[in-house]
Amino acid sequence: MLFIPDSTRQRLCSETHHDDALRDQICRMLKKSGLRPTRQRIELGKLLLTGGHRHVTADELHNEALAAGVPHSLATVYNTLNQFVAAGLLRCVNLDGARSFFDTNEADHHHFYIGDDNRVIDIPAEDIAFKALPEPPPGYKISAVEVVIRLERDASRCDDALTETTSAATLKKQEPAFS
Ligand SMILES: [Zn+2]
Repeated sequence: MLFIPDSTRQRLCSETHHDDALRDQICRMLKKSGLRPTRQRIELGKLLLTGGHRHVTADELHNEALAAGVPHSLATVYNTLNQFVAAGLLRCVNLDGARSFFDTNEADHHHFYIGDDNRVIDIPAEDIAFKALPEPPPGYKISAVEVVIRLERDASRCDDALTETTSAATLKKQEPAFS
């Protein structure tokens, strides 16, 4: 007979319960957003929507899914991410028209983009003030203003600390998304 120590049994039980609770949480989130809780949405949702705010590319999530033992094709991952965006569970941050990051932070905010590291960092909305916004064309109103501030490493500084890099970085403001 297989003997399982009490401590191991308790750990396994609590992990199962934790997994079930997470699954229920994702199911509720999907249903609330009008999405049917399919297996791939639940599995990818569990990877994405738990554990704090993140920015991921479809490639990164695809690799995470493979590592977690839930292999889905890159096309499935990409489609699921876009469905999450359409349902309001994620935001899509487009860079250069080709690279897209999927952002789990739904609150209004802006971004630093570190091209060298291909990394996106949140900037709280209140940290950027606009003196004046252009008048939108007739028949339109501004629904969102999103700024991407591109950073490059400052060669004159050898300190790699992020705070140093950002404070001394060359800032280039991108046009607001609605223009
Ligand atoms: Zn973000």
